[in-house]
Amino acid sequence: MSWYKEAVCMRCGRPLDGKFYDACPKCAEESVNVNYRTIYDLSSAKLPAAETTQPGIYRFRDFYPLEDSDPVVSIGEGNTPLHRLERMGKQLGLEQLWMKDESKNPTMSHKDRLCSLIISKALAEKAPGITISSTGNQGAAAAAYAAVAGLPCVIFTTSNVSPSMKTLMQAYGASVFVTPSMADRGVIMEKLVRELSSSG
Ligand SMILES: [Zn+2]
Repeated sequence: MSWYKEAVCMRCGRPLDGKFYDACPKCAEESVNVNYRTIYDLSSAKLPAAETTQPGIYRFRDFYPLEDSDPVVSIGEGNTPLHRLERMGKQLGLEQLWMKDESKNPTMSHKDRLCSLIISKALAEKAPGITISSTGNQGAAAAAYAAVAGLPCVIFTTSNVSPSMKTLMQAYGASVFVTPSMADRGVIMEKLVRELSSSG
């Protein structure tokens, strides 16, 4: 059972009434960007046991805005190793200094954690596809998880994108469009989101 209760618009505080993928109606004319704050009832919440049947980050599933029946799109993200940095810790005067090696995630990025959750929710909400504006690892992670979910993925990027990262996005099956500027990619993506939203 999720302890998540609701999301409210970060700008004006208006409840989003479960419509995660719509902009706040009150602020929509400013932008389609979704900016929300999540509210939880943690009065009976407990941290999960280390041993659980849920994989990786889904050990903490009750903290996520997922229904019990929602499927999860998971390819082994999370549970990345911790390495103790003894010499650097001594130099900094820190007895316990540890590094979390997020390169051990499926696409070698911590962005796999959030893309797993976002695309699980998109699948549950029957979203027609995934679109993202990215020049790096978040685009690659979104493309990989969209591919696992069987959802089309459209990524808007700029000419600053590294060739290897663009290749990675495409290798995961995303359609990648290079726009002339950062501002352009936002404008074009907004048009795509509005058209898909209005076509139901
Ligand atoms: Zn608002």
